[in-house]
Amino acid sequence: MEILTPIQYWGIISIISTIGCVVIAEKRGGSPVVWFFLGLIFGPIGFLAALTAGKQCPHCKLWVPKEAKVCGHCTKEL
Ligand SMILES: [Zn+2]
Repeated sequence: MEILTPIQYWGIISIISTIGCVVIAEKRGGSPVVWFFLGLIFGPIGFLAALTAGKQCPHCKLWVPKEAKVCGHCTKEL
């Protein structure tokens, strides 16, 4: 088994982060295209930003899109 160089490690982490960003963006009502590039440029930092994007429902603590008026999980008003 070959030992990966730090640059190869970073490449793998970036790819995983980019995919993670797009998946989270779609779940939370964000733009997958925007988050694709954020993930690509910032890697794990972009991924963390995607995790903190959107807003949390004060009733059930689940994540909903920023523009949502009603929680998609517990249907309570936000
Ligand atoms: Zn809720």
